[in-house]
Amino acid sequence: MIITRQKLIKEILSSLTGSKNIFLVGCAQCATLCKTGGEEELIKMEKELGAEGKTITGKSIIDPACHLIKVKQFFQKNKKGVLKSDAIVAMTCGDGVQSIADGTKDTSVKPALDSLFLGEIQRGGHFVQKCILCGECIIDKTGGICPVTICTKGLLNGPCGGSKNEKCEVDRERDCGWILIYKRLKDRGELDKMKNISDPQDYSKQIKPQKVVL
Ligand code: SF4
Ligand code: SF4
Repeated sequence: MIITRQKLIKEILSSLTGSKNIFLVGCAQCATLCKTGGEEELIKMEKELGAEGKTITGKSIIDPACHLIKVKQFFQKNKKGVLKSDAIVAMTCGDGVQSIADGTKDTSVKPALDSLFLGEIQRGGHFVQKCILCGECIIDKTGGICPVTICTKGLLNGPCGGSKNEKCEVDRERDCGWILIYKRLKDRGELDKMKNISDPQDYSKQIKPQKVVL
């Protein structure tokens, strides 16, 4: 899931300078789960922008906002409300903002959220980064724990030797990722995997923008 955080309202207002009539769009998937772009957050944003003299011409949630065809269909149905607007405020991840911008080329689109990372939902409102989408998954060798993400230095062959009391030398508040990997492998009786030397990653797989066509 894409984890997002709302920008400060003063930043959103700054992007809306010169725009009076605003259409709000949220996303039924990640932004709703993150409580940054669901029903409640749209209502709150409507009140906050209204208090600053903006007129909300409409508000709606797309399921999901990163699906270009659904976005285009949505704007076909909601053309009137959107055409009355000077700007759309997108309470979605950055991908959703761009799908909305592609789907409605006549109206400017302003992001209300910052997209932070791909995250695991550990419990309500508690999200943790576990994968940075490196394009070459190697966690079969590391007990299902990603060293690229969880080791602060992203070491493929750890540990670095700097950990103390099982904490990382870069940040003593964090668990050392390679000690977590060691413990997992030990629990599974797979400690011999610690002796494997991983090859460097193929960074060409991270060249952007990426595309998959099925
Ligand atoms: S190695 Fe880590 S960052 Fe790369 S795909 Fe696997 S989990 Fe994601
Ligand atoms: S102390 Fe552990 S988590 Fe921190 S950089 Fe070294 S190996 Fe990685």
